Amino acid sequence: MLRFAPSPTGDMHIGNLRVAILNHIISRQKKEDLIIRIEDTDKERNIEGKDKEILDILNLFAIDYKQVILQSNNLKYHQQIAMQLLIDKKAFNCFCSDEALEKDREELKAAGKPYRYSSFCENLSDETVMNCDAPSTVRIKKPTHDISFKDVVKGEFTYKPFDVDSFVILRTNKTPTYNFACAVDDMLMNISTVIRGEDHLSNTPKQIHIREQIGYTQEIEYIHLPVITNKETGKKMSKRDDASSVKWLVSEGYLPSAIANYLVLLGYNPPCEIFTLEEAIEWFDISKISKSSAKFDIEKLKFINREHIKILDNMRLSKILGYADEDLGALAKVFMEESNTINDLKFKINLIFGEKSSLDGFENELNLVNDCLSHAPFMDNFEELKKYVGEKTSLKGKNLFMPLRFALTGAEHGPNLSEIYPYIKNYLGEIIK
Ligand code: GLU
Repeated sequence: MLRFAPSPTGDMHIGNLRVAILNHIISRQKKEDLIIRIEDTDKERNIEGKDKEILDILNLFAIDYKQVILQSNNLKYHQQIAMQLLIDKKAFNCFCSDEALEKDREELKAAGKPYRYSSFCENLSDETVMNCDAPSTVRIKKPTHDISFKDVVKGEFTYKPFDVDSFVILRTNKTPTYNFACAVDDMLMNISTVIRGEDHLSNTPKQIHIREQIGYTQEIEYIHLPVITNKETGKKMSKRDDASSVKWLVSEGYLPSAIANYLVLLGYNPPCEIFTLEEAIEWFDISKISKSSAKFDIEKLKFINREHIKILDNMRLSKILGYADEDLGALAKVFMEESNTINDLKFKINLIFGEKSSLDGFENELNLVNDCLSHAPFMDNFEELKKYVGEKTSLKGKNLFMPLRFALTGAEHGPNLSEIYPYIKNYLGEIIK
């Protein structure tokens, strides 16, 4: 069983979508189910509606999943297991106040040392604990041995007990911290492989330690994906980069199939550049992903988007553009040389069918052409139409071509009218208004 475990705390980041897509690919390759676990235990950071938005995005990208689980529904298990760890003396109640912890943090910082818990409450007697009314967290005791694991992409890691530390597993309000809820749920759900972003690498020894203390012996395979960076700044793509939001990319007219293609391509050397997720399932080998961070290149995404638009069936493209006629899909493809996105195409098609302004310098000629076109009989090809309008209006050269192009397309420049005309000839009544 694999899991994708998003937090409903903001717009879905492309890094998260990449994690979801690779989970989907690997679950299909391993023939194991994928479940979605919405990690909603941090109530303060949750944003209403984001869980639904995440599922809508997964559906849009055709990511198969077996089940959706809300992590908060497992709260009773988190609490029971924390209780058991307390009974077994593998965890302890910590009464240290935020102020006291902050003071320790400051002192260690001033001494140039990393923060670690002081162990102040680790050996309190049961009696002291029973008699103390102050709010308490539950901390798991730090390990007594090194914690090692092998990441499929990033290699071997070993963490000292000092690095794992005695960390909080239940907050004062008795809700689990991320590491605890995640480690327990991965165990309860019998997860075989965890694929997630490398920002979680340092959480892995903590989660392994938790499961070891519970007595769970089944190993989980870890795959941490390198971060996606902004090509210009070299920094991790953040909320400040519009393109980091999947919602934004889709709203800008990037096809889900193209975004998915691009995200699989990041840090990978595939046998071909343009592919579908179904095809990637055949050849993708996650152990061959580059260890180093991947640069996000919007120009490359534009190229891939164009290629995916070109291979769309004309009817499908027409529907994506808001119509339902194969001819309009074919018409859109005539504009592909000068377009990158569905929005660019919508803009061009809307110019053709929309209200047209007047054409500077050719106002009278445009009136003549429009008048002529609105009374013209049906013409099968553009040469015939051009000849007819030329004869009827006595316009020639630029005085004919400019208004004719504008009347038919709403633009002053663009692909050859002879390429456009076959797809709009049945719509002249709507175009010439
Ligand atoms: N909720 C965490 C996140 O969105 C999940 C990390 C994990 O997959 O364990 O980053």
